[in-house]
Amino acid sequence: MFITPHTSIALWITTKVSDPMEAFIFGVVSHFILDIIPHGDESIGEHKKTKKGRLFYMLKVAFVDVVLATALVFLFLTRKPDMDRKVMYGAVAGAWMPDLAWLSAEYFKIKILDGYVRFHAKVHNFFGWEYAPVYGVPFQIGFTLFALKLAF
Ligand SMILES: [Zn+2]
Repeated sequence: MFITPHTSIALWITTKVSDPMEAFIFGVVSHFILDIIPHGDESIGEHKKTKKGRLFYMLKVAFVDVVLATALVFLFLTRKPDMDRKVMYGAVAGAWMPDLAWLSAEYFKIKILDGYVRFHAKVHNFFGWEYAPVYGVPFQIGFTLFALKLAF
């Protein structure tokens, strides 16, 4: 799942807990719960014929995703100045961590995280149901808006 919906749930968690560590743990747990839901982004970039083309396309998508997610965090900070920032950073870090760990494990070939990489893939394929991004992207946008409605 994109980092933007993960972030929007983290912002909602921020409004519910008061301890940064607790927020972090809920952020991590929320990440895996969201990843279990079939979310239709597995085949993104597959229309690119070369490996390099696919990687470049994924980087562009990831860039937009991270910019959007960061914008949500700033919006939250300006709209809700009374919120505990440490709690918010805890929740957001927790929600981002599983994908950051997975990306670094894959990119830097960190052997010790092999089991984790398999676990992350298992969570993604929990229902074994993949569908096209043409449905997955609107689903994730809708989900993000729903979570933001809860958070704001
Ligand atoms: Zn993930």
